[in-house]
Amino acid sequence: MKYDYDLFTIGGGSGGVRASRVSATMGARVAIAESDRFGGTCVNVGCIPKKLFSYAAHFREDFEVARSFGWTTGEPRFDWPTLLANKNREIARLNGIYEKLLRDAGVAIHRGRATVRDAHTVEIDGKAFTAQHILVATGSWPQVPAIVGREHAITSNEAFFLERLPQRALLVGGGYIAVEFASIFNGLGIETTLAYRGTHLLRGFDADLGSHLGEEMARKGVRVRLQANPIRVHADRSVDFADGTSSRYDLVMFATGRKPNTASLGLEGAGVALAEDGAVVVDAYSRTSAGSIWAIGDVTNRVNLTPVATAEGMWLARTLFGNQPTPVDHENVATAVFSDPNVSTVGLSEEVARERFGAIDVYKASFRALKHTLGERQDRTFMKLVVDGSSQRVVGAHMVGPDAGEIMQGIAVAVKLGATKAQFDATIGIHPTAAEEFVTMRNKAA
Ligand SMILES: Cc1cc2nc3c(=O)[nH]c(=O)nc-3n(C[C@H](O)[C@H](O)[C@H](O)COP(=O)(O)OP(=O)(O)OC[C@H]3O[C@@H](n4cnc5c(N)ncnc54)[C@H](O)[C@@H]3O)c2cc1C
Repeated sequence: MKYDYDLFTIGGGSGGVRASRVSATMGARVAIAESDRFGGTCVNVGCIPKKLFSYAAHFREDFEVARSFGWTTGEPRFDWPTLLANKNREIARLNGIYEKLLRDAGVAIHRGRATVRDAHTVEIDGKAFTAQHILVATGSWPQVPAIVGREHAITSNEAFFLERLPQRALLVGGGYIAVEFASIFNGLGIETTLAYRGTHLLRGFDADLGSHLGEEMARKGVRVRLQANPIRVHADRSVDFADGTSSRYDLVMFATGRKPNTASLGLEGAGVALAEDGAVVVDAYSRTSAGSIWAIGDVTNRVNLTPVATAEGMWLARTLFGNQPTPVDHENVATAVFSDPNVSTVGLSEEVARERFGAIDVYKASFRALKHTLGERQDRTFMKLVVDGSSQRVVGAHMVGPDAGEIMQGIAVAVKLGATKAQFDATIGIHPTAAEEFVTMRNKAA
């Protein structure tokens, strides 16, 4: 055998584990290196613990709403150490499952930080391993702006392990991680401010989603400050803003974007081209400019989501070892933001659809959910369909409201299949649900 392995994967996160496991089951001799815990960002400091925290935060509202349905619940009390310990136990279980899946598939496991020595050689702790193909799946890392006192702030990495909860927290950022943590902190009873330098939240999503979410979050008690730019964090966690204001917090968290993990990996030396932001440049098959080196997941900065990284991993296994070259398909990837309320979306925003198709039809609905009609809460659910004017295909579906992520998965199948507005209309709704609104929207908003 010319090489030690057919495939050597660097990084045991969502993409790397899936690519390695599937390649091994196709008969390839596979090794994987992981410098931290198996499961990567999603399992350890991303999707899974975030969603668990988000469940915890939502109970506060549930206790309140329960009263209007006749329940007496007493004064609810929340114990952070209990949540933290239960979360850590579940994550440790998942770490074990990921490792077992790899071992059961026959993947050789190497612990430690790997670097690329040349187009066919990986090095870990001074030991070299050769492989016909090398896969870079090293993910991404939080980015904090270079402002004075940034060392007094945390990122999402640390937010999952706080020893105690603060009384007053500042979240800096307007993307999905910022709004999710602002909702978590607010739900857990922390006085929460969300400061974002832009004019509306969730840049890159349909603009109505960010506006509606901002209003609903404010209604639920988050102090949403737009066009607010922190310029200095002091040791006592007072924060100076560009407009001359200053406020004190117990915790400052930056959720201001992430950067691909490519620093000091040895990639450029092996002939791998990197983009300006450090992302590995790949073609439609996830191949880098060094023919034997491939890259998937966040490190390529394409669509940075777990199911996308795992899909890229499976497509790559097919390409390399399944005799079935498969280009990546990033069209109509549905996604959810687990803020309170949830946001979910599939397909094109109104802005992008208008640019692409010119003539479009837009349908919108905003209503008070049935669950809140017995109480005082004024929360409003928002839904929107974007339709290509000439083909009448639904090219975008968007929602802000409870269970938006659960609802959007089914809508995503229809959008992926190219369903028309008439086909949505011909679908009989499930009553009484919020979801039925997606098949009963009749009045054009634009
Ligand atoms: C707070 C937060 C919430 C998120 N929520 C969601 C969500 O709800 N839904 C969703 O779909 N996505 C979510 N994401 C995004 C998701 O976590 C990522 O898209 C996904 O983890 C990317 O997978 P990956 O395989 O590319 O990288 P990762 O999962 O980050 O895995 C990379 C792995 O490589 C290892 N590594 C790095 N360098 C080396 C090296 N030199 N040698 C050996 N090992 C190395 C790392 O330790 C890590 O384990 C969230 C992310 C964050 C930060």
